[in-house]
Amino acid sequence: MRLGALEAGGTKMVCAIVELENDEKWNILEKTSIPTTLPDETLPKLADFFRGKGIEALGIACFGPVDLHRDSPTYGYITTTPKAGWEWCDVAGFFGRELGVPIGFDTDVNGSLLGEASFGCARGVENSIYITIGTGIGAGVMSNGKLLHGMLHPEAGHLTLKRRKGDEDFVCVCPYHDSCFEGLAAGPAIERRFGRPGAELSNRPEVWELEAYYIAQALVAYLLILSPEKIILGGGVMHQQSLLPLIRREVQRQLGGYLNTRELEHLEEYIVGASLGDDQGILGACCLAREVC
Ligand code: ADP
Ligand code: ZN
Repeated sequence: MRLGALEAGGTKMVCAIVELENDEKWNILEKTSIPTTLPDETLPKLADFFRGKGIEALGIACFGPVDLHRDSPTYGYITTTPKAGWEWCDVAGFFGRELGVPIGFDTDVNGSLLGEASFGCARGVENSIYITIGTGIGAGVMSNGKLLHGMLHPEAGHLTLKRRKGDEDFVCVCPYHDSCFEGLAAGPAIERRFGRPGAELSNRPEVWELEAYYIAQALVAYLLILSPEKIILGGGVMHQQSLLPLIRREVQRQLGGYLNTRELEHLEEYIVGASLGDDQGILGACCLAREVC
């Protein structure tokens, strides 16, 4: 089965043609990346990539907020995004009209989680969460084997966090909130606080201790509310090797010994990094396509 997969991000669009043999075996036949500029320029380039390649369906894992209600007149749209030019953009409708194939559509992070749940470290896990910590922060949630949508879809990156002592005066990067997870801990917050991008701060342990404090605070909230059986962390900031062990230790500390589960006894299997290289989003989009075939 040949499927189209699009990981639509605010910085770049990754598009791929994937041959799915079965649940175990896939082949990425072709993959390319296009910068996200304005819809009138970017969307036709993407359609050109997919056209004439014999795909049976296209799956789109899209930056948001997006409308996921199938009975809504704006289903498949990016809605109120701060990304200039993309407000109320009919992404799913555009590709449906251009390519004439069924379109599967969900958030970028739900897509990544679906990729991990189908082919990666969350296989066979019914309740899981995928958090990306990059230019922004977002979370995809699987509950009882289904991706969670609800009223809109989770927007867990904007959870309000308590400041660490000494960090009270830092100006939150998020234009909507004065102390949210994304505004305190995404890549741009690290850069504003320490004057350099995260990749250049490997030798500054205080950066990663503060980062782990905020990430753990959010994970503890997700854990207490959603009771996931696996927590997966992806995104550019997680490329910092020292971070994952610090986060596990801090989650344990902040839980204060309140919970006692098998998962929490094996934190190195419970809180893990993304397992599919950088392909979890594309493979998740591919699963979204398979669902509508
Ligand atoms: P996007 O969120 O735009 O899709 P990424 O997930 O790659 O892209 O995240 C980009 C962010 O990750 C940038 O803010 C960058 O500074 C940060 N970043 C990239 N590499 C590292 C690293 N090794 N350590 C810490 N931060 C990093
Ligand atoms: Zn916010």
